Amino acid sequence: MLTAEIIAVGSELLTPDKIDTNSLWLTERLNAVGIDVMLKTVVGDDEARLEEAIRHALKRCEVVVMTGGLGPTEDDITRRVAARALDRELEYRDEIEADLRERFRRWGREMPEINKRQAFIIEGSRVLPNPNGSAVGMLFESNGKTIVILPGPPRELKPMFDDHVFPHLLDRPGAVIARRRIIKVSGMGESAVDAAIADIYRSIEGLETSILFNKSEVEVRLAARAETEQKADAILENAAGKIAAALGPAVFSTQGESLEEVLGKLLRSRSETLSLAESCTGGMVARRITEVPGSSAYFLEGAVTYANEAKMRTLNLSPGTLERHGAVSGEAAEAMARGMRERTASDHAVSITGIAGPGGGSEEKPVGTVWIGYAGERGVRSFKLLLPGDRYLIRWRASSAALDYLRRQLLKA
Ligand code: AMP
Ligand code: MG
Repeated sequence: MLTAEIIAVGSELLTPDKIDTNSLWLTERLNAVGIDVMLKTVVGDDEARLEEAIRHALKRCEVVVMTGGLGPTEDDITRRVAARALDRELEYRDEIEADLRERFRRWGREMPEINKRQAFIIEGSRVLPNPNGSAVGMLFESNGKTIVILPGPPRELKPMFDDHVFPHLLDRPGAVIARRRIIKVSGMGESAVDAAIADIYRSIEGLETSILFNKSEVEVRLAARAETEQKADAILENAAGKIAAALGPAVFSTQGESLEEVLGKLLRSRSETLSLAESCTGGMVARRITEVPGSSAYFLEGAVTYANEAKMRTLNLSPGTLERHGAVSGEAAEAMARGMRERTASDHAVSITGIAGPGGGSEEKPVGTVWIGYAGERGVRSFKLLLPGDRYLIRWRASSAALDYLRRQLLKA
């Protein structure tokens, strides 16, 4: 197994204003070619510290990827310091300068003289062209180690990596491909999921499985390693099929999709429409539904009916229902869904009413009490949840429960 380290260079990455996102992206790509990232470092524009970081990284792993600090200004030190750490000279390349001059000319500008610095590369390295910016990247092999130096801006780094570095890493003898998949599960806890599928994933060779709980759903993360993409995909396909069969309708995606994407596909394929009446989630369900591109094909309308007055005016709730049962009740949830469906003539309407806290709870209806209502062709129904968490989590979980309830209604119909 090859191991890698990533060194992100730039003082701005050590301030609260700027995050090193390159290393997250790079880690995903390196993992995909079977290379494990063991350590990442963020170094400011500081020559001594950077040199030390590079020397240490080279002692520990086979692949070192550096990003940032390739600009033309004095604070861009990566080129110079990397050369020193690798005991190599910098070498001037005519063709890089000529190319840069030509590029500036096309932008209608004269190349500033300091950009000449970007025509220097570490001797013996392969130049990685940069169609999206002025800094070329570098790749070189030395003593069985691969060193890659990439520009900082993500829109320059990503295509450079995919076009030049990725194929190079794939090409090495004995390379192992890793492919990943996320199976998403709703309405089951982590341990129940694990108990149901442990025998399956343990019995599949080349498969690594981790199970984690993410706010309102369980993610079963699969990674398969094999010599070819096809073999790795076949391992994943086999594992995903068996796991989905064992967990049944609790699985809402075997491709890592969100609940709202899955719902969108379901509604679209059936040419059916949806409307929403929300109280305690304040429009969160509508937001999640409409985050999916093309949701206008099935989503008609959502109302945030927070006050009782709004529930009566917009959804036609009777004062009697609210007086007798309260706004957080099965009766109110059902009346909300029914009212919304009548108002919009949608195929399905979902409603949510609950107590998100921290105040407003009572013994009978504690914080976290949430009713989800549903109205559709086959009638009106509701169910009650008692959700744990703070205000944010209760609202998020209520929105997920509503989406999942709708999904299960669709599967039944
Ligand atoms: P540099 O290559 O240091 O001149 O950086 C150019 C631009 O890329 C700046 O806007 C940086 O903030 C950004 N950048 C540099 N390194 C990273 C990183 N690791 N993640 C995200 N953005 C970065
Ligand atoms: Mg910088």
